[in-house]
Order: sequence, then C-alpha cells, then structure tokens
Amino acid sequence: MPSYVIDEKCDGCKGGDKTACMYICPNDLMVLDPNAMKAYNQEPNQCWECFSCVKICPTQAIEVRGYSDFVPLGSSIMPMLGTEDVMWTCKFRNGLIKRFKFPIRTTVEGAANAYKDLKGKDLDSELLSTEEADGYTIPTPAT
Ligand code: SF4
Ligand code: SF4
Repeated sequence: MPSYVIDEKCDGCKGGDKTACMYICPNDLMVLDPNAMKAYNQEPNQCWECFSCVKICPTQAIEVRGYSDFVPLGSSIMPMLGTEDVMWTCKFRNGLIKRFKFPIRTTVEGAANAYKDLKGKDLDSELLSTEEADGYTIPTPAT
C-alpha cells in the first residue's frame, strides 16, 4: 500500500521551497498543497513503498500501510531515522512489538556520485554501462 500523510502531523516542512518528502521520493510522488500546507501522495498507484519519505519526514507524518493480505490489519512498521542508524518498530497484530536497529549509510548526504565508477563510459550508448561492445554473445542452444 502506498504512503499516506497524517494531516495533523504534517507542517508542510514549514513552507520551504521543497519539502523533505518531495526531495527524497525517487518517483516524484509527493507534492505540497500550498493552501493547506499539507503534503500528499499524488499518485498512490505508483508508490514503491520504499519508505524513504517515511524515514525523512521530520514530524513522522508519513506512514505506509501494509497490504492486508500479507500484513494483517492492526500491525504496522515504522522506521525512526537517527544520525547513525534506523530503528524499525514492528507492531504485530497481537500487540507484540519488536525493534530492529540497522546502521545507515556512511556517505555524507549529497556526496554520493552514481557516475564516479562510470568515468570514460559512453553513457549515450545503447549498451548497458557495464556491458562491453564485444563482450556479450548470445548463447547457442544445445543441439
Ligand atoms: S516531509 Fe513530512 S512534514 Fe514535511 S511536507 Fe512531507 S509529510 Fe509534511
Ligand atoms: S514510499 Fe517511496 S515511492 Fe512511495 S511516496 Fe514515499 S518516497 Fe515515494
């Protein structure tokens, strides 16, 4: 199920040019209603449930609901982003709560360079960036 914004918790990132959830969504789904100063997912069907917006929201206003067929109603999963790690709180339908802590990446925010290892590659080529021009042969079926 896609992300959704709890209106009462969203402060529109205090009216900044771009809200945190708009900045982080890899699919550009989050938008801000400038009148209400509340964000919302403009295309829920396109949501990957990647939880990025959930993690970055400074007011914890975003949640992702699990599909009811494999995440029973009443359960929930909530990440809490810290400076060194993410704490996941998993609530089971019977009330049991388990928490897991995982380290976050060590690259400084904004410093990741996806093209660093692709120096010298022809990115306009129809080949994959890891594919050599003569390095791929179609396997011959066994006779
Ligand atoms: S990041 Fe959170 S507080 Fe900021 S606009 Fe999005 S939902 Fe609202
Ligand atoms: S869960 Fe991921 S894909 Fe869905 S709205 Fe949030 S950031 Fe975008």
